[in-house]
Amino acid sequence: MKTVKKCQNRSCRRQFLVSAYEAHPALTCVPGQVICPHCKSVSTASRTHIYLADPLRAEEYEIDFLEKKVA
Ligand SMILES: [Zn+2]
Repeated sequence: MKTVKKCQNRSCRRQFLVSAYEAHPALTCVPGQVICPHCKSVSTASRTHIYLADPLRAEEYEIDFLEKKVA
């Protein structure tokens, strides 16, 4: 599942896309950690999942912006 998350770092505040996967012993990623792809700051999340973050592409920023305008 992919969600858009906003960085909690006050000097960053950029949005990025987070993909959540169920944590599995074979995975080397640390569960419950979301790492901002822009500033590498770590925020915590559910430890039952691992999270992979990707920067948003320009058009995805646009979609997010449009959805907010409609809502
Ligand atoms: Zn950041």
